[in-house]
Amino acid sequence: MQTLRLEVQRLPVFLSALRDEGDLFAPVERLAPKDGRSGVYSLERIFDVAQAHPEALRTILPFKKLLLPPRTVLTRARDGAWEDGDELPIRPMIFYGAHACDVHSLKILDLLFLSDFADPYYQRRREQLTVIGYGCIPDDKCFCQSLGTANVDDGFDLFFTPLEGRFMVTVASARGDDLVRRYPVGFEPSTRDDTREYLDRLKRRTEAFTLALDAHDLPYVLELKKDDPVWEELGRKCLCCGSCSMVCPTCTCFNMWDEMPEENCSERLRCWDACLYRDYALVAGGHNFRARRADRVRNRYYHKQEAFVREFGMPSCVGCGRCIENCPTGIHVVEVFQHVRGDA
Ligand code: SF4
Ligand code: SF4
Repeated sequence: MQTLRLEVQRLPVFLSALRDEGDLFAPVERLAPKDGRSGVYSLERIFDVAQAHPEALRTILPFKKLLLPPRTVLTRARDGAWEDGDELPIRPMIFYGAHACDVHSLKILDLLFLSDFADPYYQRRREQLTVIGYGCIPDDKCFCQSLGTANVDDGFDLFFTPLEGRFMVTVASARGDDLVRRYPVGFEPSTRDDTREYLDRLKRRTEAFTLALDAHDLPYVLELKKDDPVWEELGRKCLCCGSCSMVCPTCTCFNMWDEMPEENCSERLRCWDACLYRDYALVAGGHNFRARRADRVRNRYYHKQEAFVREFGMPSCVGCGRCIENCPTGIHVVEVFQHVRGDA
């Protein structure tokens, strides 16, 4: 790992140059009909770097959509000929604006899709992805600090932390090193002043967190609270709409089905699904082992903070706050766990 510095006005030059490397994606503000501003951001391919809002705390969908698209073609048969989805061309992708929690979610996806059995569809996209991080400042829905995902020093290629008039640039991979060498737009070695200001910013950022979750013994508490009335209460409040799963950077439930998009063409697809949906646990013979809403809600929470911790030694939640922001009935993941623990 090395650290460089770059003047603020040089960053657009660098990003514009990166468009020669592949499709550039960044958080983009969605247009509101009235004044063109909405405060809502989505992850989009950009052609003008001025569109990028890397400081935006959360896009509606996280960048899992680049690696695990909502619909992935696994195989396609057209006019009697087969095409394998893992051989369809994938263009290089650059994601600018990854925050520390995003990078941690990427590590979780890699763990799931590249460890024991590498998923070829994920793997091909992952190999084409360059990750450029950006230092954020939390809001009242961020609780990554409590889960150890507020900072990151690997798992990305480049990371830009804004300082006064310049960026501290962390280079964490050979690919990142290659990019700063190939596009020498003004990168220089960082100075002691840069490091001092960077650490000051880190301190201010740590102090800016207002939401916290005591997660240190949650798996044990949850083990004891399987019959807590809170799950029935949540079952009555939760619509099982699946929004929290769709927007979650680490939720990866999927289903597979076949479609005929046009004559003489059939496709086998892998599509996003959610364990909160009633049919997710429906099996042959008509039995559903999570037919009740309370059971499905509890399952999601236990998967995040109990089962995943036991399996992999860490929760499958990075504290991004998307599920808090997007729940139509106001279910708040931190308040749920505080309630289960008896803190609220
Ligand atoms: S977004 Fe809210 S209502 Fe919808 S499934 Fe998730 S917790 Fe339930
Ligand atoms: S459970 Fe909620 S806070 Fe945790 S990673 Fe998923 S969307 Fe983010």
